[in-house]
Amino acid sequence: MVVNPADVMTKIAREPRLQLAYLKKLFERNEGDEYADQMVSLLAEYDRPQLLPFLRKSKHYHTNRALEICSHRKYDDERVFLLVKSGNRREALNVMVQQQNRLDKAIDLCREHEDDELWSLLVNEVVSSRSPANISQLLATAGTSIDPLGIIEKIPEDLEIPGLRDLLVKILRDYETQVMLQWCCHSATLDDVRGMSDLFYKQANRATHYGQRSVCAICRSKLFLEEKREELQLFGCGHAVHSRCFEEKTRRDSHLGTIPSKDCPVCAEEDGMN
Ligand SMILES: [Zn+2]
Ligand SMILES: [Zn+2]
Repeated sequence: MVVNPADVMTKIAREPRLQLAYLKKLFERNEGDEYADQMVSLLAEYDRPQLLPFLRKSKHYHTNRALEICSHRKYDDERVFLLVKSGNRREALNVMVQQQNRLDKAIDLCREHEDDELWSLLVNEVVSSRSPANISQLLATAGTSIDPLGIIEKIPEDLEIPGLRDLLVKILRDYETQVMLQWCCHSATLDDVRGMSDLFYKQANRATHYGQRSVCAICRSKLFLEEKREELQLFGCGHAVHSRCFEEKTRRDSHLGTIPSKDCPVCAEEDGMN
């Protein structure tokens, strides 16, 4: 017998806990997507630990409705998740700093989205909180992601921050390490390029052998014809052609409207195909 979930839900409409248990079973079987909104309110009411995992997993609830429920109940973790999901990062940052006092999470959020506006919002929030501990934490953990001078300029003059000098020294050291690292990468790349170009010129300078069996790369007949002294065009790539074939090809190309070139015709054709 097939049981219709809608019938079950109507039958147990006065038993929310039962509804919750039934919906959990339904979702375990990847069914019941149409009850996602109801599931959010039931979880918020009776089983909060399962609410955030459900919000992360399901794609079928209405974010705005869920946000309303979580804001009303002051469920800040869930609120932050939904705010970020709906693209409202500023508000999420605000909840993290003002309500949750979770600077570490706020810094993670800014890092994750690499959003300059978000960073400056965070700096303003932290500085206006006038909490030396928060300012130190921001400098210590985000010193290399944002301009530390920007933070220092904003700190009120009458506010004392313990350990500020050491913090600044640490930030400068971190910067130094970063610059050093970039410099090393740069010089390693230059070395590679130099090595490759040396190899290239060495190989390009090698002799190329043209013998009795060598053929013209255009007409495919022998380069050195016994009955006729041919003039040749030899290219650095190793291809060789009769001057006469080369001139003919140049003439043909200009008839076809192609710009005649002095480069190897075989390699030029291969380049054109790639
Ligand atoms: Zn030829
Ligand atoms: Zn060639």
